[in-house]
Order: sequence, then structure tokens, then C-alpha cells
Amino acid sequence: MVLVLVAGFSGWQWRQGEVYKLDTALRSNQVVLADASIKLGVTQNRLGAAEADLQSTKSELSLTTAEFRNTRGELEITRVEIEATKAKLQSTQIELGDTQVKLEGARTELFSQNLKIEALGSQLTNLKDQLTEMADRLEIEKTANEELVSQNSFIRKGSEILERMWRLRSSPANNVIAGLEDLLIAGVVEEASVKVKPVVFYSNDVPAEISAEEKRAIERSLKIVQQYFIGQVGKTFAFSEPVAIQGKRSVSGYASISSETVVNEVLLGLPSLPVKTYYLVFARDWDMSDGTSRAPFFRGAIIGKRATDSILNGNGDFSLNYQAMGILAHELGHVFAGLPDTVTSEPSIMGSKDGIYWVWNFPLVNFLPAEKNSLINFM
Ligand SMILES: [Zn+2]
Repeated sequence: MVLVLVAGFSGWQWRQGEVYKLDTALRSNQVVLADASIKLGVTQNRLGAAEADLQSTKSELSLTTAEFRNTRGELEITRVEIEATKAKLQSTQIELGDTQVKLEGARTELFSQNLKIEALGSQLTNLKDQLTEMADRLEIEKTANEELVSQNSFIRKGSEILERMWRLRSSPANNVIAGLEDLLIAGVVEEASVKVKPVVFYSNDVPAEISAEEKRAIERSLKIVQQYFIGQVGKTFAFSEPVAIQGKRSVSGYASISSETVVNEVLLGLPSLPVKTYYLVFARDWDMSDGTSRAPFFRGAIIGKRATDSILNGNGDFSLNYQAMGILAHELGHVFAGLPDTVTSEPSIMGSKDGIYWVWNFPLVNFLPAEKNSLINFM
């Protein structure tokens, strides 16, 4: 029918062409539109997808933000904790510093204490040594005191003996010596460390014989001298039985040589004796050239003829008897303690002054205190 219209009418045909053109344009527009619509759809789809993506990304972002916040919160907590820990650490460090200072102080204190302890230790050692020394000294002093006490008691008893001796000496009885020899204090002679060996020394022109009576006379005199020593120093000597010895020279021969030579020949010519044993030589029938008695301390003493006669003739001149015994005590003082002769106005058995010989006052004359000490130490 369209073909009829175009063929019948040109106007219509033109319009028909226009319609056709319009239709074609429409159709073309419709295609474009459809295409655009498709594209729009695609774009819409893409947009939807993008929106979905965006949505998803947004929600992921939102999640991430939340996580981030979370994490930030945790981090904040951690930071606070770290701050707190740091503060604690600082405080601990300060405390440690304090403690270290205290430790240092304690160590210094300990060191100083150690030094003090060491010093105390050595002081203690010193004190201990001193105490030991003191104890030893005290022990020695105690022993010395005991000895002194015992000596004092001997000296007291000895003094009584001396008094009695003096009373008997003052008596006019002929037997003045008899009875004195038994006054000895028991035990003193037995403990004597010093011994005397009496010898009667004869020249070669008389028989070397001592009578029993002469022996007794020597022993009586020695016992009295023993008692004198007890009275003076609380100790005494022991003596053995007197023996006779023959010399090499005649009476005149001994009388003609010096005292020194006599001492050398007689005393040093005798056999050696044990330690602290001494000869007491009585010159029987000859005298020393100077008439005196002599004592070379280390060996003994020689008693001159006058004193020897006096002692051997016990019942003769009593005054001389005592003087002779005083000479024995004097010479034994030389021998035992090496006491020298003294020149003194103080009466001393070892001394003399201005022609006064105190020895003649025996037994009422003493050793001087220093002389007594020497004798006590030696005997
Ligand atoms: Zn003398």
C-alpha cells in the first residue's frame, strides 16, 4: 500500500519520503538509543559494580579504620604501660643507685671493720703474749716467794741460834763450844748446794796425821759456822770429813815463800773437785808469810796457822776460838759468793776500818744486806 501512495501522489510521495527519512532517522535513533540504552545498562552495571566495590571498599575501610582505632587504642595502652614500666625502671634504677651507694658504704665500713678486727687480733696476740709472760713471771715470783718464805723462817730460827750462841759465848764456862754443834736446823744442811772439803795440810817434816779429837774440833767449828750462815741467809753449806795432806816443802820452806806461792802450790796443787765444792785448807804446822788466811775464790781458802791452832785446840782460848770461826765464815764468804774485803764503818764480817776487824765479833756481826743477797743467790 505505501508503494501505491508513492506511485499515485508526488506530494504524498515526498511526504512519504520525509516520513521514510524520519522513520529511518527514528529507526537509527532507536538503534542509537538502544545502543545507548545498552551502553547505559553496561555503564549502570559497571556503576553498580563500582558502587558495590566502593561499598565493599568503604566497609573494608570502615573495618580497617575500626581495626586501626583498635590497634591505636592498644598501642596507646601499650605506650602507657611502657611509660609506666619506664617510670618503674627509672625508679628501680634510682633505688639501685641508692642500694649501690649503700653497698659501697657497707663495703667501706666492712673494710674498716676488717682493719679494726685485724688490729684487735694483733692486740689480742700481744696481750696473750704479755699474759703468758706475766704468768711465767708470776710463777717465777711465786717460787721465789716460797723460797723466800722458807728462807725467812730459816733466818728467824737461825737468828735464835745466833742469840743462843752469843749467850753461850758470853758464858765463862770452859765448855763454851760444847752443845752448840747440835743446834742445826733439820733439812738445811741436807739441801745445801755448796760443799766444803776440809783438809789439814802438813809440811813434809812432820807426819800428816789428824787425831780423832782434832777432827771433832774442826767439825764442831764448821757446824757453828754452818749455823752462822743459816742465821745470816737461811742457807748453809755441807762439809765432808777432814782429811790430812802432806806438802812438798818443809816448815821453814813454806814459811819462806810468799803467800801467793803458797796459794799456787798448796791450793792449786790439790786434785780438782766437783762444781760448787771447795777446799778449806788448815795450815797445821807452818804459817803464811804474812800470817793471814787467803782465799782464791774459785778453789777454796787457806786458813793460817794461828786460826787453825785455835780451832784445833777447841778448849783453849775461847775468844780466839770465836775469832777463828769468824775467819772461817769470812773466808767462806770470799769463796762462796766472791765477796771482797770491804772498808766500812758499818760492822760487817767482810770488812774492817781503822784497825777494827769486825770478824773478831763473830757470831754477832753480820754480812751486809748486799753481801747476804749475793750469798743467797749463790747458795
Ligand atoms: Zn778477806
